[in-house]
Formats: sequence, structure tokens, C-alpha cells
Amino acid sequence: TAFTVPPLDDHLISNLELSGYKKPTPVQKYSIPIVMGGRDLMACAQTGSGKTGGFLFPILSQSFLTGPSPIPPSPYGREDYRRAYPTALVLAPTRELAAQIYDEARKFAYRSWVKPCVVYGGADISSQLRQLERGCDLLVATPGRLVDIMARGRILLSSIKYLVLDEADRMLDMGFEPQIRQIVEEADMPKVDQRQTLMFSATFPRDIQVLARDFLKDYIFLSV
Ligand code: AMP
Repeated sequence: TAFTVPPLDDHLISNLELSGYKKPTPVQKYSIPIVMGGRDLMACAQTGSGKTGGFLFPILSQSFLTGPSPIPPSPYGREDYRRAYPTALVLAPTRELAAQIYDEARKFAYRSWVKPCVVYGGADISSQLRQLERGCDLLVATPGRLVDIMARGRILLSSIKYLVLDEADRMLDMGFEPQIRQIVEEADMPKVDQRQTLMFSATFPRDIQVLARDFLKDYIFLSV
């Protein structure tokens, strides 16, 4: 299929075929090689453009190839079995968008080692904590709920290789900037040169430019 250039992992391609995806949308066509090439990305794309696949496909493809992260060393010792240590973190503004990204991630991670999880506000936290405890490789989260989970010491960010801020402009409009900064600047979050960071936004106003400057390194700007 058209998803073979650049070469996405075979297992991902078979999952894409199960979903009836035959060729990449324009944003996917450009973002997949950028992300597979290890670069940070600032992409301006609307909902409906296929932007979710634009970050999920290359992240899952690379993850299938590299395999799970080892259990990270931590100062908490054996208590740490309760902490999730995801490899990829996707921040999204609303419960609806987070659930949608999670559904896509589950579809495309089907029969792989990658276990997606989702957490969002306005829902019972204890079932979300139990879900995290059972293992989580790709976490989709709304910022407020993730800060809450961090405060409870139930997540370790030190294994993060991919950090995605989806609909960044909407997250700022909703007043999430302090929570986003708290997450990205958390002590155990790998620094900008130790992770790959992808930002998606419908618009590129001044405040988004500032976030891109603060969170991304030497990024490629994509507008579709
Ligand atoms: P998004 O902009 O990521 O919310 O995607 C919009 C819709 O397009 C979703 O329903 C996706 O499932 C669908 N979609 C995304 N990428 C593709 C593709 N390459 N081929 C067919 N449908 C797609």
C-alpha cells in the first residue's frame, strides 16, 4: 500500500489494512517521514485531516520495532510496581478527543506489545489508576487529570520517548498552560534532547509559538 513509503512496520500496515486505511492523508504523508526521521514537529492541521494518524502511525511503527522499555530504576524501590511508565504520552484538551485518540491507538496497536491507556477528568479516578497499574505504554491524557495522577505518585515519566501535544491551541484556550508546563517540566520527564516532541495545533498564534520554542528542539514546521 501507499503506507510503505517510508516503510512503516509490517504489523502496523496490516492493522491499517484491517481498518480499511489505504493511503495516508496529506498531513500523514508529510508527518510520518519527519517523525520516523527522529525530528521534532510543529504541525498546523485541522480536525478531520487525519492528524491523529500523523503522530500515532510513526510512533507505533517505531515502538513495534524497538520493543518495550525496561522497568526504569527508581528511588521508590519495590513500591514502584504501582507506577505506570509509558513510552509515549499524548496530551489532549478534552475527554472526547482523548477517548477518540485512545480508540485509534487501540485499533492500531492491536496484537502488539503496546498497551494504550486513557485518563481524563470528570470520571472516577480509581478505575483509571487500576488501569494504569495493569501496564501502560502509550498514555492519552487530559492535562488536569494527569497532574492529579502525578501528585498521587502513580506515574513515572522517565521512560517517555515521545511527547505529543494535540490541539495545543485548544488546550491553551481552556486554560491548561500551567498544567502542561508542570507536566513537561516535571523532574522525571526526559529533557527536550532526550525525547521527541510533536505539537499539533489548528492555529499558530504567539502563545503557541512560545510553547513550541520552549518544548521543541530544532523543529520542522508543517502546515497542511
Ligand atoms: P483525525 O483528523 O485524526 O481526527 O481523523 C479524521 C478521520 O479520518 C478519522 O475518522 C480517521 O479514522 C480517519 N482517517 C485518518 N487517516 C485515515 C487514512 N489514512 N485513511 C482513511 N481514513 C483515515
